[in-house]
Amino acid sequence: MDIPLIDLKAQYDNLKNELDKVTIDVLSGSKYIMGENVVKFEREFNKYLNVKHSISVGNGTDALVIALKALGIGEGDEVITSTYTFFATAESISAVGAVPVFVDVEKDTFNIDPQKIEEKITEKTRAIMPVHIFGQPADMDEINIIAKKHNLYVIEDACQAIGAQYKGKMVGTLGDIAAFSFFPTKNLGAAGDGGMIVTNNDNIATIVKALRTHGSGENGQKAYNLLNGEKEEVKKDSEDNTVYNPLKYYNYLIGFNSRLDEIQAALLRVKLRELDKWNNKRVDTAKHYNESLNETELVVPYKSENGTHVYHMYILQSEDRSGLVEYLKENGIATGVYYPVPLHQQKAYKDLGYKKGDMPNSEYLSERTFAVPIYPELNNEQKEYIVETIKKFK
Ligand SMILES: *Cc1c(COP(=O)(O)O)cnc(C)c1O
Repeated sequence: MDIPLIDLKAQYDNLKNELDKVTIDVLSGSKYIMGENVVKFEREFNKYLNVKHSISVGNGTDALVIALKALGIGEGDEVITSTYTFFATAESISAVGAVPVFVDVEKDTFNIDPQKIEEKITEKTRAIMPVHIFGQPADMDEINIIAKKHNLYVIEDACQAIGAQYKGKMVGTLGDIAAFSFFPTKNLGAAGDGGMIVTNNDNIATIVKALRTHGSGENGQKAYNLLNGEKEEVKKDSEDNTVYNPLKYYNYLIGFNSRLDEIQAALLRVKLRELDKWNNKRVDTAKHYNESLNETELVVPYKSENGTHVYHMYILQSEDRSGLVEYLKENGIATGVYYPVPLHQQKAYKDLGYKKGDMPNSEYLSERTFAVPIYPELNNEQKEYIVETIKKFK
């Protein structure tokens, strides 16, 4: 039996008729950028998260970069984040010219350890960027208390945790602003790149909307007025909105071109309706794995009482990871190592001067953790095969 780590073909096959139809509809409608699917998807996303503003962008990394930029974070600033995450978390901080300051994770949840945040705060610190790693919410109450005390923004990297809740609230609504990714393998994935920024703050939302489209247009004007304390409406060439946005070629901020394609929005609208069902399947599978693997030498993932876990990845720990991963591969079961190198040890961040031993939990985990398949389309036979094969490993 061959089981991939994630099976996007199975996901497509289950929804083929609907996905094909909405794609053809967009093609025949020929409105490719910022069309009605984008507008509706953003509205549906607001409703799903119970948040005021959802602003779609080109990908999850851009979502983080634009979120940071919208908060005015840049050169000379520091942002505290986890060292045990996908590279894009820290890369976004570097992209705006700020410096990522890494904090070790809790050994059980793999999330940023709130106890270790305060010692990293300096006069330059502007924000904390927790990551809800592998689908489990970080300890947001503790993080928000620290942020409030030191007057810092909280930016959630929610790219792996769409649909998860922390103390009854959806992730993405727990800080000042949050980023989601629709990379195809995420719990809600597009057929290409996509991302979303969410916030309950009206002013931040206006600035984000301006930044995603070259700082131009009406949002650009509003954002400019907000940032510069101005009220005046700049004169428009034309009030005729039918030809082109009258303020399209008036630029008020230096922004980006980062938008969600209309086809991706159409596909994501279909998939958003399936998301809770898919996440529940992941939870059921995790429960089954936990129970079945409890008697082995493997460490199964810990779930905190603070919230739900949407198991973007099901992470096991083994003393003999390379042996087990190789054995599973020989038996047709794909695995993935998340993450082999904590960010403070990445070559790209060599200049920040961290050394081995600085983040003992992350370094320990990076040598033991690996993911086994947990995608929603896994059938019982496949799950049984995975469990039985792992149990037979000597
Ligand atoms: C996927 C991911 C991102 C980046 O998303 P892209 O859409 O691939 O740019 C950022 N942070 C985390 C934790 C992720 O898992």
